Amino acid sequence: MPMNSSLKYIPSIFYKRQPLQFTFFVTSRCNARCPFCFYWQDRHAGQDELTVDEVEKVASSMGNLLWLLFSGGEIFLRKDLPDLVDAFYRHNHPVIITLPTNGLAPDLILPRTEEILSRSPESAVVCKISLDGVGEDHDRIRNTPGSFDKAMETYEGLRRLGERHKNLQLGINTVFCRENQDDMDRIIDYVNGIQGCETHTISMIRGNPADGSFKEIDLEKYRRAVERLEDDLKGGNAKMYHFTLARLKTAQDLVQRRLIYETIRQGRRLLPCYAGRIGAVMSETGDIFPCEILDDRMGNVRESGYDFPKVFFSEQADAVRAKINSTRCYCSHECYFVTNILFNPLKYGRVLGQYLALTGKS
Ligand code: SF4
Repeated sequence: MPMNSSLKYIPSIFYKRQPLQFTFFVTSRCNARCPFCFYWQDRHAGQDELTVDEVEKVASSMGNLLWLLFSGGEIFLRKDLPDLVDAFYRHNHPVIITLPTNGLAPDLILPRTEEILSRSPESAVVCKISLDGVGEDHDRIRNTPGSFDKAMETYEGLRRLGERHKNLQLGINTVFCRENQDDMDRIIDYVNGIQGCETHTISMIRGNPADGSFKEIDLEKYRRAVERLEDDLKGGNAKMYHFTLARLKTAQDLVQRRLIYETIRQGRRLLPCYAGRIGAVMSETGDIFPCEILDDRMGNVRESGYDFPKVFFSEQADAVRAKINSTRCYCSHECYFVTNILFNPLKYGRVLGQYLALTGKS
């Protein structure tokens, strides 16, 4: 299967002035009301979302992307999602495209994913379904009766799509929060037993959720959960993605989970953050941010004539980057740890150690 190559991003290890990780919040609309959602304050009726024509212009002003992520809201509520993905696919040749979903609307998700897979043959398309508990626990945590069954119906439909489209990589994501921190073994066991699941990630709850009590977690329970995932991977009981360099990505995951634990435990930044340098976020209305945690706006693509570099290399953007450096802000957001590790040579020894531990275990 021909795939876009990640090797051309090696220079970014030394020269970090070009976004290669780009997150696009395509909508703030959502068909769920999860109490731990970090984007709940931005929910609106979908007014003013960037159109496909506008996104086409933004994408054409940008360079190649290693990793293109979509976020929301529920991204599949946008019927033009395949066209939005295609704009970036043609202009920016992403190696990996990540599509997260709550899985509540299989009738929308399955045909739209199939169209994306057909139109993005040279990208690894990672579909991540949210699963925060098993059965009714998931429904309760997500405050949506029937959501577990819907998510699993979507999962099964996607798994079948994967039989026809080898560029699909299917995974499950669990948000670690107060409500499920005692059920992690059960959730991990369940996911390990699902046919076709290529990765199970556990994301630490972040941001300012509607119900702040969900953030009252026991950090040692998080540590035990990530150690369990690690043991399963090294023992060959859990699977890995099948794209090129997937083993390297898994090794990075293992390093990342321990760093996240240590960052929260020590309450300080443990490695430089490249948000705003090789990472950027675009909101559904065109605002550009260095990451999805900070409110510091670098500018808006509508105000720049859809010229992304004009925003990203503006004085306003420089001020945001300077602030990130001077404040040494820190967070647990997994997506930024990915690039902060993979593009930091000082972490390669640890990644190599995990890589060797995984060798021969997939
Ligand atoms: S450490 Fe977190 S909050 Fe700070 S810039 Fe990086 S991603 Fe954003």
